[in-house]
Amino acid sequence: MKHSTRRFRRVSAKRTRRLPSKRAGRDHMKPGTPTLSARPVHTDHSQQYDFANILFAGPCNQRCFYCIGHQVDPALNQNNLDEFPLRNQDAFVDLLRQHHVRQIVFTGTNTDPQLYRHEARLIGWLRGQLPDAQISLHTNGQLALDKIKVFNLYDRATVSFPSFDPDTFEKMTSTRQMPDLAAIVRTTRIPVKVSCLVNEHNADQVDEFLTRCHEIGVRRLVLRQPYGPTSRRHAFVPLKPGAGCTLSGVYRNNPVYDYRGMEVTCWRFFRTVSTALDLFSDGSISTEYLLTRASSRSNETQIDTDLRG
Ligand code: SF4
Repeated sequence: MKHSTRRFRRVSAKRTRRLPSKRAGRDHMKPGTPTLSARPVHTDHSQQYDFANILFAGPCNQRCFYCIGHQVDPALNQNNLDEFPLRNQDAFVDLLRQHHVRQIVFTGTNTDPQLYRHEARLIGWLRGQLPDAQISLHTNGQLALDKIKVFNLYDRATVSFPSFDPDTFEKMTSTRQMPDLAAIVRTTRIPVKVSCLVNEHNADQVDEFLTRCHEIGVRRLVLRQPYGPTSRRHAFVPLKPGAGCTLSGVYRNNPVYDYRGMEVTCWRFFRTVSTALDLFSDGSISTEYLLTRASSRSNETQIDTDLRG
């Protein structure tokens, strides 16, 4: 469920060890892939991590052309949708304890985490292991209503939703089957943030998108810059003060607006840096922004880091 939003950066080989997952095998690991996967996993105990990602992989119910799964080393995209426990699940939680990480995100490199067959079981297990952790979901929303009981087990959720217009939605996700965002917002008992990647297909719909989100009761919305080779050079200004929109603050160098009581953040990933621990589907555990070297097509990629509730 990665939508090109969190920035990863190159990591020095001196700062990481590279141990292949027992189940993945050494052949899957590219030279220089800065991941850790076998026990024991050693990290710098003084290092602080903002959050942790549990990454799922497998077939998805959308096919977004901007999906980060296209940029990730296929070795890190092994289908884990049927697995419990996940590969290196215990070792990963040990690390979260060591580093006092209290924010855990269920997300995916190339699939939606609600397609994971053991979603509720894993949430329950994590609650037992890390009782004070906050568990978040980053989803495309396609299964939210069908699995509303499980959806409500999370502490909060982000729904990635690019457009209310079916034609635009199809251009961006390759499906006309749209999640009912209004029903999700209305039905769920947990805070739901909407995340909208803004590109050439929906940039001219931003005003209408804000209006619709406001009408259906969305309280928090993030407009995200697409990732690409020219993104660093281009300003990302999907929204300007005026027309009911006022600048209300800054979050991690990103402007935050108030739109009729709805908080709207314009997420410019090149200005945003966070630290994270990631459990990949093959059992690899990364200690920093490590998809950089896992990527076969680019040197940088990005994932959501906005963890405000
Ligand atoms: S919905 Fe599926 S295809 Fe689209 S970005 Fe998320 S994981 Fe990729």
